[in-house]
Parts: sequence; structure tokens; C-alpha cells
Amino acid sequence: MRLEGKKALITGAARGIGKAIALGMAKEGADIGIADVNVESAEKTAQEVRALGVKSISIKLDVSKQTEVAGAFESFIKEFGALDILVNNAGITRDNVLLRMKEEDWDAVLNINLKGSFLCSKEAVKIMAKQRYGKIISISSVVAFMGNPGQANYSSSKAGLIGLTKTIAKEYASRGIRANAVAPGFIQTAMTDVLTDAVKEEMKKAIPLSQLGTPEDVTNAVIFLASKESDYITGQVLHVNGGMYM
Ligand code: NAP
Repeated sequence: MRLEGKKALITGAARGIGKAIALGMAKEGADIGIADVNVESAEKTAQEVRALGVKSISIKLDVSKQTEVAGAFESFIKEFGALDILVNNAGITRDNVLLRMKEEDWDAVLNINLKGSFLCSKEAVKIMAKQRYGKIISISSVVAFMGNPGQANYSSSKAGLIGLTKTIAKEYASRGIRANAVAPGFIQTAMTDVLTDAVKEEMKKAIPLSQLGTPEDVTNAVIFLASKESDYITGQVLHVNGGMYM
């Protein structure tokens, strides 16, 4: 068990990739805080995590709201007493081409995907710096590196996460904190289920391994970065994309 006794907080963990990360980390022995805007769904995921024999609580959290973020970390520490791993996973899309993209769609995506990770990382660093240990893993995207038509807001937010990750890595390495990012390609979740089969077929043509990834593919990368095996790795991006970006 690579994460035995570790305490992990995962944002947006009620479903999709965040849920897969929660279940994967629990199988490796970590206790998990499931933080999500949708608290009913978060509690169902926490139940599934507890069934694996570790501790888990659900926490209602909108990552874009500073007071909710502070409260969520307080609740987490009250329950678990320490924070070893933060996964900044909560993310949304509001796609449109640049000229049709509304300011509110830009703001919503940047507020949740980038500002949310800033707020959560800040609370995590306060705790981890005192512990002189911690791992912060942020879920970026292949589009941060490639751009993507219709995703000016989303790709900017995910590129911003890389700058945030590298800066945290430099600022807090001396406190034993590692910060890394995982950049998934196209992964089968609700976020990609909305795409037509024709679009998915086109996507596969752009992927050397000719298939979409699974939430478990992302989970394996996150577990590696959360574990001792990656202790000499900080400020890096692990690409999980079937080779579509090299
Ligand atoms: P998803 O299925 O839409 O799940 C996202 C989760 O985040 C949902 O539970 C959602 O709650 C929650 N959430 C939304 N806004 C939130 C907020 N303000 N505060 C806290 N939680 C919030 O997405 P996914 O596909 O699993 O994606 C997870 C992460 O991977 C995202 O950061 C995404 O950008 C990234 N990613 C995904 C792909 C892909 O192909 N799927 C590729 C690259 C990167 P609700 O259920 O209430 O909406």
C-alpha cells in the first residue's frame, strides 16, 4: 500500500476523474476528504470510499469561494488532524469560440479551474509548511499545451495551473512540499460523453495509442505523484494522453 495512513483532500471528487482518484488512493490506504459542490453526490462517493476500509468524509465546497475553502480545510483538519495530499481536480468547461465567448463564461471557468486551485493550494500550504511535508497535485489538461478551438477560457485556466504549480514548487520546496501537475488528454467521463461519436472518432485519429483514456489512467499518475516513489520530483507535468501531445 503506497499511501498507507496518508490524509488526502480531493476537490470535485464526487464523480468522474476525482472519484476515480479517491477510490484509487483509498485502495492504497489513504483516508480521503471528498470535497464537491454537490454534497449529496460527494457523500455517496465517501460511502464507497469507506467501504474500502479507510476513513472518508464528504465536504461541501465551491472551490471558487474563499470562505468555503477556508471552512473546508478546517473541517478536514478537525477530522483527520493532518493533510498530506491535495488534489486540485475540480474543473468545468464553458466552451465557445472567442468572439462568442461571454465574459461570464470566461470568469466562471477561470474562477473555478484556476482561482479555485490557488485558494485551495494556499490553505494546503499553510498546513503542509508546518508539517514540513505535503504533495499538491493539480489536474491540468493537454489543451494547456496545444490550445483547442472553443476553449480559450479552459485552455488558459489549465495553462495557468502549470505556472501556479511551478511557482509553488519553487517557493515551498524548502518546506518539504512537492507540487506537480497531471495533464490528461481526452478521458472518458461526463465531460467528454457529451461529444458526438463522430467527434470522438476524429479525436482517436489524433491519438497515437488510438483510444480515449480512462479515469484510472489519470489516477495511476496521480497516485505516483502522491507517493514516496516521486519524492525527488517537483514542478513537473506528467502527460497522460496516449501520445497525442509529446
Ligand atoms: P466532471 O465529470 O465534470 O467532474 C467534475 C467534478 O467537479 C463534479 O463532481 C463537479 O460537480 C465538481 N465541481 C464543479 N464545479 C466545482 C466547484 N466550483 N467546486 C468544487 N467542485 C466542483 O469532470 P472530469 O472529466 O472528471 O474532470 C476532472 C478534472 O480533470 C477537471 O479539472 C477537468 O478539467 C480535468 N480534465 C478532464 C479531461 C477529460 O477528458 N474528462 C481531460 C483533461 C482534464 P457537479 O457534479 O455538481 O458539476
